[in-house]
Formats: sequence, structure tokens, C-alpha cells
Amino acid sequence: MEKPKKKITAPRKVGRSRKRRTAYSTEEIHEIFRRFSVQRPEPKGELEHVNAFTLLVAVVLSAQATDAGVNKATRDLFKIADTPEKMLALGEEAVGKYIRTIGLWRNKAKNVIALSDALIRDHKSQVPDNRDALVTLPGVGRKTANVVLNMSFGQPTMAVDTHILRIGNRIGLAPGNTPEQVEDTLVKIIPAEFMRHAHHWLILHGRYVCKARKPDCMACVIADICKSAEKTNEIPAPLMELAP
Ligand code: SF4
Repeated sequence: MEKPKKKITAPRKVGRSRKRRTAYSTEEIHEIFRRFSVQRPEPKGELEHVNAFTLLVAVVLSAQATDAGVNKATRDLFKIADTPEKMLALGEEAVGKYIRTIGLWRNKAKNVIALSDALIRDHKSQVPDNRDALVTLPGVGRKTANVVLNMSFGQPTMAVDTHILRIGNRIGLAPGNTPEQVEDTLVKIIPAEFMRHAHHWLILHGRYVCKARKPDCMACVIADICKSAEKTNEIPAPLMELAP
């Protein structure tokens, strides 16, 4: 998963409420996520994993790396090490050999071994289902914890990556200078019924439609609702189910 970049684009209009800093009404927000839910009823993350532990490791490895690059490295690694015990037995040097194609691999190999050790020692070899415990693990920050809580435990968290940070600001859905500010607003404004999948919907929308360099507004299903100053089209693309 890519690291959020600081560069942001100002939205055309931002709501004034301190509690609810968004340019959109409750009805508009509901309609945005309703359309995303029609497009992808069961969205999937792109990081390959077989259980909560391998998801945690994959997310730790994905800092400043692409999901495709991480998947390429972990495919073989997870075949032989899908539990903290097996990872610890493999050791830092061998883990490093598997992940050598990923940026910062030396430090990441160290963290993977240290977090495996901590899981065995402090959590009965289980990935904890709460943020406070997760962020004490080596290499695990708030974003990683939010991804794991959302994907492995079904909790309504919002892990803000570079795409979500950009969309939040570009379209004025959740303006903020930091991932935490954007996360805070999104968690407040997204209807509970959509919270489970909202993280993936926003990432996929940012990756394939509302892209960093040039948003593809002709392909956008929320073009009529969007309030971005960068918008180039007012007519929403046909709403149909896509691949998850
Ligand atoms: S209309 Fe354009 S700017 Fe607005 S959300 Fe869609 S792709 Fe992004």
C-alpha cells in the first residue's frame, strides 16, 4: 500500500461544521456510497493473504510498496510461513531473502520477526482485534491496524491511504491535512450500513477513476454529485456491477 502523500488539492466548497467537515449533505453522502455498493457489493483488498496473521504481515510489508510487488514476494513466503511460529522459525535472514524485492526490506524483515515473536509471547499467537494492542506490535501503525481490523475482524475502521487522502480533499468529502483528520471525518459521515466496505470502495475509486494525475470523470458514477473544482463532466457513468 502506498504511503499517503502530503500534496492535496483544495475542494470547491467545504461545510462549516467543525464536527462534520464535508461539502456534502447526508443524502448526497448516502447516494455516493449506495452507488459504490452497487458497483462492488463485496469489494476485496488486493493484498493476498490466507489468515489474519498473513494479512498483518502483508500490510506491514506494503508501506512504500505496491500491492502487486508485495504479493509477488509473499506468495512463496506464506506457503511456508503462515503462522507466527513458522515465521519465527524461518528467521530474519530467510524472511529477508523472500522479500528482497520490496523497498526497506531489511527493516521490514526485522519487524516481521519481532511482531511474530510478540504475538506468540503476548497474544497466544493470535492477531489482536483491537487497535491499542495492534499498534504496540513492531512495524504496525494506525493505518495498518485499521486495515487489519476492517478486513479480518469486520470492524468499521477507515485506513486512509494516498488515494483516500486525495479523494477526501479533492472532492471535499473529508478535507484534512493529515490521514487522521480525513479518517476522523469519514468515520463520522459515512452511514453505518456502508462503513464495512467504504475503505475499499474509496481506494478502488481513487485507483481506477478519481486518479492522482487526472481524474477520469467520464467514467465516474458520482460525477453529478461530485463538487470538485477539477471535475470535467457532470453526467454520471452508467451504474453497473464491476469485478470486486
Ligand atoms: S467527477 Fe471526477 S473529480 Fe469527481 S469524483 Fe468523479 S473522477 Fe473524481
